[in-house]
Amino acid sequence: MQNTLNTAVSFTGVGLHTGQSVRMVVHPAPADHGIWFRRIDILAENTGADNNGAGNNGLRADIPAIWSAVTPSRLCTVVENADGVSVSTIEHLTAALAGCAIHNALIEIDGGEVPILDGSAEPFVQAFLAAGIREQAVEIRAVRVLKTVEVREGEAVARLEPADMLEIDFRIEFEEPAIGTQERHLRMSNGAFVRELSDSRTFCRQADVDAMRERGLALGGTLDNAVVFDGDRVVSPGGLRHEDEPVRHKMLDAVGDLSLAGGPILGLYTGIRAGHALTNRLLRALFADPANFRIEECSSRIGGKLPGIGVHRGDLPSVRRRAA
Ligand SMILES: [Zn+2]
Repeated sequence: MQNTLNTAVSFTGVGLHTGQSVRMVVHPAPADHGIWFRRIDILAENTGADNNGAGNNGLRADIPAIWSAVTPSRLCTVVENADGVSVSTIEHLTAALAGCAIHNALIEIDGGEVPILDGSAEPFVQAFLAAGIREQAVEIRAVRVLKTVEVREGEAVARLEPADMLEIDFRIEFEEPAIGTQERHLRMSNGAFVRELSDSRTFCRQADVDAMRERGLALGGTLDNAVVFDGDRVVSPGGLRHEDEPVRHKMLDAVGDLSLAGGPILGLYTGIRAGHALTNRLLRALFADPANFRIEECSSRIGGKLPGIGVHRGDLPSVRRRAA
C-alpha cells in the first residue's frame, strides 16, 4: 500500500550551493498524489492569486519531483516546471522519502534550494520516522525493468537491469588516495537504505571547493555539511562515518535520483563513476521505449521488498551508534 506522513514536518537550514536560508515543510498528501514541491515564495508574489496558483507574476509555484522535470545540472538534481520555477538539491530529501517508503507528500519551501542540513539524508529520515508513516488505501505501482538499459559518458556508466527488487551496485574511482576506488552492492529492502546509506554525507575535494566558490557555488558548504578530502587526508574534523562513506553517499544519491521514476523501481542499478545527470539520462532512456519497462501494482510479496517498508527508528545509524 502507498504511504504518507502522519503529520507535517518542518526543516530550516541553508542551501549547499546558494547559501540561502530556507524553511521547508513536508506535508502529508493523498494517495496517488506523488511527490510535489510548492515554492511558497513564488505564491506570495502572486498577490490576488487565483485557485490555479497562477497570479500576478504569472508563474506556477508547483513542481513535480519526476524524471521528466529534471533540468541539466552537474552538481545536484534540479526540478523545474514549465514556467521555469525550480527547486535544486532535492536528491537527499527524495532519497529519504523513498527510503522511508513515503510515496505521497507536498513539500512547501520558501526558496529555490532544499536545506543541506548535515549533508546526508539522516535528519530527514529521523524527522519522518518521528512524525510517523501512515498507510493509504491504494496499491503501490512499481516500475519493473524488463530490458537492460545503459547510458555512458566518457568513463562513467549507468545501467538498469531486470531484478525482483531495487538493488544498487556502485563503483567510484578517484585519484585522491583518501578516496581511491570504492565499491559496494546493496539490496534495498528491510531498511537497508536507512541503516547502510542514510547517514553518509556529501563529499568533495578541496580543489573542487575552491573551483566551485569561484563559480559562486557551494556558498553554504562548510565542514559541518560536507566531507572534504585533500590528497591523502580527510580535512573535516571528526573524520568519516564509514570507511567507504563516499561510495555510500553516491548510492544514497542514486536512490534519490531513481525515486523520480514515478514509482519504486524493480531492477538492478549499476553506477560506475556515475552522477546525477547520467542517472537522469538513464531514466529518460528507460522511459523512451515502452518495451523497457512495465508499471505493475505490487503484490504483498514484491511490496514487502520495497525500500523503506517496515523501517523503524532502531534502523537509524545515530540510534544504532548510541546502542552499540
Ligand atoms: Zn548527494
